[in-house]
Amino acid sequence: MNAGSAMTKGTKPYDVDVAIFGSGFGGLCMGIKLKEAGIDNFVILEKDEMYGGTWRVNHYPGAACDVPSHLYSFSFAQNAKWTRKFPPQQELWAYTQQVVREFKLEPHIRLNTALVSADFDEQLGIWRVVTSKDSFTAKTVVAATGSLSRPSIPTFPGMESFAGKMFHSAYWEHDYNFKGKRVAVIGTGASAIQFIPEIAPKVAHLDLYQRTPPWIMPRPDRKITSVEQWLLQHVKPMQWLYRFLTYLRYEMRLVAFTKLPVLNRLVRKAAVNNINQHIKDPVLRARLTPDYTPGCKRILLMNTYYPTLARENVKVVFDGIQEIRSNSIVGKDGVERPVDAIILGTGFDVQHALGEVEIHGRDGKNLREVGKDGLEAYKGCTVTGFPNFFMVTGPNTGLGHNSMIYMIESGVNYIVKGIKTILDEKLTSVDVKPGVQRQYNSDIQSRFSGTVWTSGCKSWYLTSTGKNNTLWPGFTWEYRHLTKRFDLASYDVAS
Ligand code: NAP
Repeated sequence: MNAGSAMTKGTKPYDVDVAIFGSGFGGLCMGIKLKEAGIDNFVILEKDEMYGGTWRVNHYPGAACDVPSHLYSFSFAQNAKWTRKFPPQQELWAYTQQVVREFKLEPHIRLNTALVSADFDEQLGIWRVVTSKDSFTAKTVVAATGSLSRPSIPTFPGMESFAGKMFHSAYWEHDYNFKGKRVAVIGTGASAIQFIPEIAPKVAHLDLYQRTPPWIMPRPDRKITSVEQWLLQHVKPMQWLYRFLTYLRYEMRLVAFTKLPVLNRLVRKAAVNNINQHIKDPVLRARLTPDYTPGCKRILLMNTYYPTLARENVKVVFDGIQEIRSNSIVGKDGVERPVDAIILGTGFDVQHALGEVEIHGRDGKNLREVGKDGLEAYKGCTVTGFPNFFMVTGPNTGLGHNSMIYMIESGVNYIVKGIKTILDEKLTSVDVKPGVQRQYNSDIQSRFSGTVWTSGCKSWYLTSTGKNNTLWPGFTWEYRHLTKRFDLASYDVAS
């Protein structure tokens, strides 16, 4: 076993107190808060050659976050130096690096180390972890792999015969020269609407295969002036006030999604105006206008997408794909369109985010099997049958209206308190009671009724059976309140 510098077995019957899987915002926050709680014997496993999570992986042209910069950072590590109101990918990744340095996380991070399996040892109350490099034992484990980490690659008849270039937006090939090429983009989600305006001016022709149009609002982006940066850096109350007001503004969007659907009519009107302002062709306008309620799928923010679709060299194809040939795509409209490169903007496999990793809890229970129809958790953090196991951004903690960083901080607070309880009280295992988890999820599901998310669209928020196990159905401060303390009474405890 090569346990790494943060592993010191000492007198304990295991190597580390905590093994964290994933080094994105969730994994880094976990590390920082463990240190703050006095727990230093932990490792953060990262399968890739660098930490940073989704904002390192997704570096396609135009990648940026649609949550304002000053809200998309840790509350305890605010950054006054954002250059734009909405953070570009490069700045977000640089921010994660700054955080790693500031909180001295580097000795804990093990790069190029993929989790292979984790098995709970009932007798000892520890996890046996196997990675691509070695194996070790951990008292507790935390999955912080995020739900948008496994690209979803669709299959189309004949796809394997395609002789040109093909890649997913999460595997962008910057060396590929788009100049003069005929390009097909499949998908019109959050990623595609950001990279299409970047590549369209370079290509000879772009065919955009749209299955469902998204609702898109203008992105009120602009540069942050140096005066604003100075003020935010030197007048701390101002930084907090600005962040708080931004938080409140975004939190209010939930009212339109859940409580006052009438407000959604205003959103629809603004979004339709956005289409009409840029698209003059009435047929295209109609096909770009969604037929579902705004918010049912994530509302996207972008200024340059519709003007790009109005370009001479861009054609939106609505009828789907019948077949892919070696140098063309045949649409369901029967038209064969020549193509040099296909870019898959087809999103992520949210329901199988852990992929092939084997996580076995009590009695050999496999987490993938348990979650095959949509994983359920308690407070998004613990899963019955998987003692001493925690998740950051687990089931029903996603958001369509505000910053995920806020949810990460809330969940991490709960998990750190849980881990501290296990370690301080020398508990063998802590496993959420099945009845508690069942009741919690039944309450969560009942809250979706009457919201925009059950208004009849198909989205990656839903499992194949239509259950929403992705989103948090309330205000984010409700989740903060729920995760304030670790409720040991909700758990079966062995000591
Ligand atoms: P996405 O929003 O799930 O979009 C995937 C697109 O591919 C959809 O248009 C989907 O159509 C289409 N698609 C999927 N399979 C297809 C198939 N077999 N044939 C034809 N079309 C197909 O994925 P994404 O754009 O990568 O974004 C994923 C999530 O990442 C976002 O929702 C967001 O949470 C996050 N993200 C956030 C930001 C940000 O600014 N914060 C930026 C980028 C991404 P349907 O709609 O019909 O399924």
